[in-house]
Amino acid sequence: MIINTQDSLTQTVFPITIGVPIKQAVDMKVMDLVLIDCCVDARLTVREVAKIFETHNSWPGVILKSGALFLGMLSRNHCFEILGKPYALEVYSRKTILEFYDTMKHQILVIDGETSIQDAVKTALTRDKNLIFDPVVVQLYENYFCLVNIHDLLLAQCDVLENLYDEVHHLSIIDPLTQLNNRRGFFEFAQPEIIKSQTNQNDLSALMIDIDHFKKTNDLYGHFVGDQVLRAVAEEIQKTLRQTDLIGRYGGEEFICLLPNTTIDAAHSIAERLRDTVEKRIVKVNEYEVSVTISIGICNIADANGSLDILLSLADQAMYWAKASGRNKVCQWTAAISHSAAMEVIQKGLKIKAVKKKNGKKDEQLTKIYDETIEGWSKAIEMRDKEMEGHSQRVVDLTLKLARKCGVKESEMAEIRRGAMLHDIGKIAIPDPILFKPGKLTDEEWLVMRKHPIYAHEFLSPITFLKKSIDIPFCHHEHYDGSGYPRGLKGEEIPLAARIFTVIDVWDALCSDRCYRPAWSHAEAKEYIVAQSGKMFDPIITELFIQLINEMNS
Ligand code: GH3
Ligand code: MG
Ligand code: MG
Repeated sequence: MIINTQDSLTQTVFPITIGVPIKQAVDMKVMDLVLIDCCVDARLTVREVAKIFETHNSWPGVILKSGALFLGMLSRNHCFEILGKPYALEVYSRKTILEFYDTMKHQILVIDGETSIQDAVKTALTRDKNLIFDPVVVQLYENYFCLVNIHDLLLAQCDVLENLYDEVHHLSIIDPLTQLNNRRGFFEFAQPEIIKSQTNQNDLSALMIDIDHFKKTNDLYGHFVGDQVLRAVAEEIQKTLRQTDLIGRYGGEEFICLLPNTTIDAAHSIAERLRDTVEKRIVKVNEYEVSVTISIGICNIADANGSLDILLSLADQAMYWAKASGRNKVCQWTAAISHSAAMEVIQKGLKIKAVKKKNGKKDEQLTKIYDETIEGWSKAIEMRDKEMEGHSQRVVDLTLKLARKCGVKESEMAEIRRGAMLHDIGKIAIPDPILFKPGKLTDEEWLVMRKHPIYAHEFLSPITFLKKSIDIPFCHHEHYDGSGYPRGLKGEEIPLAARIFTVIDVWDALCSDRCYRPAWSHAEAKEYIVAQSGKMFDPIITELFIQLINEMNS
């Protein structure tokens, strides 16, 4: 159920003094009570709530409720932050809010009616202990939820609250453990830094730092010791970098730094010095002496076409390369890490995304440009892996045929086609030595290889146009019996498009020559596919596939 009774919170004026308790303000009717701006049932899935966010842009957040039980609030700004990495949204998207609510670092924000407006503001704006509050106060009052946007309160009371706001703003951008900028703080300062470097044509490099095997450190010594190690690493980063460099705690044990006026070579030596210092640092906590190493990915703004998002994503790729090549390493992003041609088209794609749609005709033109871009990407993947030549087009054609047979609506075909075309896009982030290794992959290399669907999700999910085409690139290695990757989805948890595509992908691979074996005959391949019914493949889809192949051969 969605209730939306107010056009906009910003229309509400609060002619009240900040010392007045909320309840009194409500009783006096100086504060408009029924500010039920947005209210969704917590039994909805994350995907559904995300959709609601998309369609109601003005909502600062949603109140979650299950029956009569008030659960708390999911804020729009932090929905993404709470869910962590972009792909986590997908991981959770089919779960109801209720199912994962408890696992979020999130606190129900119920403000008692007796609380003064001032205290309510402070509570709501303070992100103590890393809990997520948005500038919104929520109160349960006579079966109504009262949602007060603190920004509006602040506007109304700006003189009195100015200092308070500065104080809480500072708290909201600083990570309490390391005292570095948190992710929010980092982005607040990073964008202006990029603009400055572009305007003045100054160099700028980025470092993405991740502690190696940090989970083991926690497992071995406990989280308290882990926290001290995190602090020590943060300290070393601060000591090694300059005052003018921007440092942030990007995620749990990941740090990000922007180094203005720094060439890639200079960034390399700074990163190397930092790596060495951290390796040598011994952190003493009680009876323990702990040391860790870090992997660092570095990238220069020139490689990122001046875009902060691309810069961070490339530094992240370089960091993964550093991990894959043994950890405790500094790795510089090069076109070889992520195939240059493919990256170029991706960057082009990201730019196209920014083109504004104005009318129907433009829409059509845009769709055409998008589709051409996607074909470009697909060719770039094949250019890298010669053995795959023609594979995309073949699988696309067969996938569409099988999808029709499975009763997929014509209106959904375009998305399936794009998904099939891009199914292996995540492989551009797999380093050459792993992707083209002639022999067997080691366990560690397999771990990297199995990330390609996740990379695909990371590349594609920011692109609105491809939102609905992501199922195949992200889920085509899931198996019907739950033994696949990356999420081990089972049965109908695997999106239909991916269940269809998996059969076709395997079929095409079996019927093509490979460096280690010649192509199988259709009869042999059919036998294999049937044997995997209910294991790798959905049994009904397998049956329809065999019918399709028989019809095509008759
Ligand atoms: P890799 O070398 O591949 O990066 O391995 P890893 O174990 O460092 O990476 P993984 O992402 O598997 O685990 C990260 C760990 O960091 C898991 C989590 O327990 C720990 N961590 C994240 N945030 C904190 C924190 O604030 N305090 C402590 N003590 N540990 C944290
Ligand atoms: Mg990590
Ligand atoms: Mg790590």
